[in-house]
Amino acid sequence: MMTLLKSALKLAVVLVAVFAMSGVEAPHAGAEELAKNLFGNKKLPAALPPKSYGFYSKGCFAGGVAIPTDGPTWQAMRLSRNRRWGHPAMIALIEKLSRDAAEKDGWPGLLLGDISQPRGGPMLTGHASHQIGLDADIWFTPMPDRTLSASERENISAQSLVDEKTHRVIDRYWTPAHARLLKRAASYPEVERILVNPGIKKKLCETVKGDRSWLRKVRPFWGHDYHFHIRIGCQPGSTGCKEQAETTPGDGCDKSLAWWFTEEPWRPNQNPDAPKARDVMKMSNLPKECRIVLAAPSPESEMAATFRGPGDRGTSIAAVIQSAGSAVPEPAPQDVVSANAFLPAQGANVPLPEWRPQK
Ligand SMILES: [Zn+2]
Repeated sequence: MMTLLKSALKLAVVLVAVFAMSGVEAPHAGAEELAKNLFGNKKLPAALPPKSYGFYSKGCFAGGVAIPTDGPTWQAMRLSRNRRWGHPAMIALIEKLSRDAAEKDGWPGLLLGDISQPRGGPMLTGHASHQIGLDADIWFTPMPDRTLSASERENISAQSLVDEKTHRVIDRYWTPAHARLLKRAASYPEVERILVNPGIKKKLCETVKGDRSWLRKVRPFWGHDYHFHIRIGCQPGSTGCKEQAETTPGDGCDKSLAWWFTEEPWRPNQNPDAPKARDVMKMSNLPKECRIVLAAPSPESEMAATFRGPGDRGTSIAAVIQSAGSAVPEPAPQDVVSANAFLPAQGANVPLPEWRPQK
C-alpha cells in the first residue's frame, strides 16, 4: 500500500512538472496554426497516462504506444506515415486479434494500416477519424509468409474486394476466412464498430449462418473495400472521451443497407473542392486538453513507447511515463499494474493537469 501511495505521489510530481512545462500560450486569434500541422509533425507520444480527449473525428490522446513494426502474427504497412500509435487498449486488441485469428480462424496474420499519429489529432492526409487512438485499419489481404521489405510496405497496394461499378463483392477474392476474421474482431466487447464497404456488409448478410448477432457491429461505409476499420469504445479513465452513438439493434441487413445500393449514395462528394474538416481545424476547435497533450514531453525513444506483447500493457505505459521523467525510479511491479488502462479505477487518485485559462 505504501509503495502504491509513494508511486502515485511520484506520478503526481511528474505530472505537475509536465503541466508547468506545457506553458501553453493563448494563440492570437486569426494567426492560429492548423491543428493537423501541429499534430502531424509530432514524432513521439505525450508521456502522460493514457487518455483520449474528444471524439473520434475531433480530438487527441495521451500515453500512446506503438505497435512493433513486426510481430509473430502481424506486419505494419506504410511505416513512413508513423501512424502505428494508439491507446494501449487499442494496441493490445490488435495484438490479440492477430493471435486469435491465426490460431483459430486460419488467418495467417494481419497487415496493419493506419492506427493514429503519436498524439492523435487531425492528420495531414486521409482519415476524418483515427484522432483519439481508438481506431485502426486492417487490410483484407492476409499477411504473406515472409517479411515484407520497407519499400514493399510503402508500395504494395491491397486488393479491393469490391467491384466499383456494381458495389458487390468480387466472389473470387472473397473467402470464408474473411468472414471469420470479421466475426473474431466483432467478438471482443471493447470493439463497438467495424466499418466495411456496403458490398462486404451485403455479402455477410447473405452468407452468415447461425449466430448473426455480431453483424450489428459491422457497419457499411464508403471505401473500406481493401481494409476494414475497427473502433473501440472510450476506455476507463478517459473522462474527456466522447462516446459514439450506439448501433441500432438488429443485424443491419435491412433498409439501411439497401439504401447504399440505390443510385444516390454513391455520389457522396457533391463538392470535391470543399475544404475537409482537417484542413480548417484549429487547436481552439479541439478539446482544451489537447494543448497539454501537444506540449507534453516525449518518452526518450520510440522503443520506450513500443508495445512489448501480451501482458505488457502496463509496462509500456510505465515506460512511457518513466522515460519522460529521469528522476522517477523504476516502478515496482504492483504499481505497473496500477498503470494498466484496463482497470476502471486507475487514475482516479492521480491528479492530472487540468486546463487553466491563461491570464
Ligand atoms: Zn479507418
